[in-house]
Amino acid sequence: MRIIQMPDSLANKIAAGEVVERPASVVKELVENSIDANSTWVKIEIKEAGLQVIKVTDNGDGMLEEDCETAFLRHATSKIKNETDLFHVRTLGFRGEALASIASVSKLTVQTSTGEHAGTRLTLEGGKLIDKQKSAARKGTEIMVSELFFNTPARLKYMKTIHTELGHITDLLNRLALSHPQIRFEVTHNGKNIFKTAGTGDVLQVISQVYGMNVAKHMLPVKHETLDFSIGGFIAKPEVTRASRNYMSTIINGRYIKSVALNKAIIQGYHTLLPIGRSPIVVLSIQMDPILVDVNVHPTKLEVRFSKDKELFQAIEQTIKETFREATLIPEMESKS
Ligand code: ADP
Ligand code: MG
Repeated sequence: MRIIQMPDSLANKIAAGEVVERPASVVKELVENSIDANSTWVKIEIKEAGLQVIKVTDNGDGMLEEDCETAFLRHATSKIKNETDLFHVRTLGFRGEALASIASVSKLTVQTSTGEHAGTRLTLEGGKLIDKQKSAARKGTEIMVSELFFNTPARLKYMKTIHTELGHITDLLNRLALSHPQIRFEVTHNGKNIFKTAGTGDVLQVISQVYGMNVAKHMLPVKHETLDFSIGGFIAKPEVTRASRNYMSTIINGRYIKSVALNKAIIQGYHTLLPIGRSPIVVLSIQMDPILVDVNVHPTKLEVRFSKDKELFQAIEQTIKETFREATLIPEMESKS
């Protein structure tokens, strides 16, 4: 057999296998693009847990006509230009493969405008452009993905129940909202409101909207600076715990990430304060020089590697311990006054 280089349409489908695992992955990529486009408002409309429709509308920068077509090509991005940029990523996206991948396994329409000129409306099916029109000059972008996995039957069959898929979407949107308190999010499922945030920049308010007032009332603020890291956020007092580790959110330079090691550092910070088998509710946002964090680990960008990992884990553990040490003093003083 001779060797050929794959056509892009095939390469996109292969990439989609990794990038678009389930409807929640599409929601993640679209909303992250809205965030990168400087949106202050993002509306997410879901039908049938995203298997029927995922529509994301933002008021961000929008795209010019040619850029909008280019955006659906493989490895097309406006976020990095060279190798140096790859080590200084400040945006959530940089791989330039989400739109091409999503489009290759769905029916998609995009409507976008920078607000200065008439907008562009493209329709794609299985990654192929089938229609192009002018649209209104409303600044921002709206992407509607329908019939996800219509042309990849094996993947479609693998989808779990509506309940499970919606659970993944809600969990993801909760984390995105917690990571971006300055953005107003509106989320609906089958036309019903599932959650809304106010976009005031107040993390505690988002915690209240996502986990409820009762949780928000029991959170302690965290603030700690080291030479390399600036750690902020909120940690729940040990009296409000959860049975699952899913209530710990770790955010690195605005990116929600999954890290067993960071969760472990948090739990070590609680030390003996946590009842056995219980996990804390934590939202920790850590800022560091992007050179210290490698985000180019996995196509979904949910995992990262730290070059100063031991220092970071120690800083987190210490910060949490310190927060509790200080907090035990404050109520005593208050009760005396
Ligand atoms: P990446 O985010 O890694 O750059 P994507 O495939 O997700 O790759 O998007 C390709 C490009 O399309 C982005 O770099 C950006 O320029 C543009 N884009 C995508 N979504 C939006 C949006 N909501 N608003 C403005 N531009 C967008
Ligand atoms: Mg992207």
